[in-house]
Amino acid sequence: MTARRPAVFFGHGSPTVALEESQTTRCWAAIAAAIGKPKAILAISAHWLTRGVAVTAMARPKTIHDFGRGLPAPLFDIQYPAPGDPALAARVQSLLAPVTPVHLDQSQWGLDHGTWSVLSKAWPHADVPVVQLSMDATRPPAWHYEIGRRLAPLRDEDVLILGSGNVVHNLSVMSWEGRTAPAYDWAVRFNAAMRTAIETDDAQAVINYAALGEDAALAVTDPDHFWPLLYVLGARAPGERVRLFNDGFEFKSLSMMCVLVGETEAAVRAAA
Ligand code: ZN
Repeated sequence: MTARRPAVFFGHGSPTVALEESQTTRCWAAIAAAIGKPKAILAISAHWLTRGVAVTAMARPKTIHDFGRGLPAPLFDIQYPAPGDPALAARVQSLLAPVTPVHLDQSQWGLDHGTWSVLSKAWPHADVPVVQLSMDATRPPAWHYEIGRRLAPLRDEDVLILGSGNVVHNLSVMSWEGRTAPAYDWAVRFNAAMRTAIETDDAQAVINYAALGEDAALAVTDPDHFWPLLYVLGARAPGERVRLFNDGFEFKSLSMMCVLVGETEAAVRAAA
């Protein structure tokens, strides 16, 4: 395939999704089926925050179980043994140089649950090489968007740029009893505003999400789950088509919305 690869943001929710078959996991599999198997995946997960930027550069990234002990034991047994791609890591480093130095990580990180919970459903055979890119926690939203823009050429090299987070993510008020209960009003409003901004190709409105005031403060309590969306939108060509999937909520305060940037006929069918 020589056409430009789509880029995708996945709303990943609770790690326990990896143990389930649900509307969400079927949606992730449908997105993967629609866009086909890329040469490699560059994943930006909400769960790898650093000072400066790092990229996994090892041939065999380990599966990281980066969550609390209170979760079900089988989650800790999940392995996602996808190979790494040291050449892609070096390519990322060169694309971002010299403005943004990138550390080639050989041992610290691997694939965290933001990445493997999605990939274990989307590409369950773990046969596509995966590289993870960290997010510099000291940087503002516009900077994260700009990194996505500079990584966009990878889409023409058959690399899937994958963001994993949540447009709305507030753990302090999530309701474990209310998985399918109606979401909070502020969550619905904020999600809708972001949906409109994405659909109208208004990246500035997404970058400046904090302008939504209290709704934004409640929806994005920590920006780590929001930032991966900015990388995916940064990789979007001007006016490029997007499609939204799984645009609903879980636990009243987690938006599960997925964003597919780039048109494919199969994606159109999957969204129907
Ligand atoms: Zn998460």
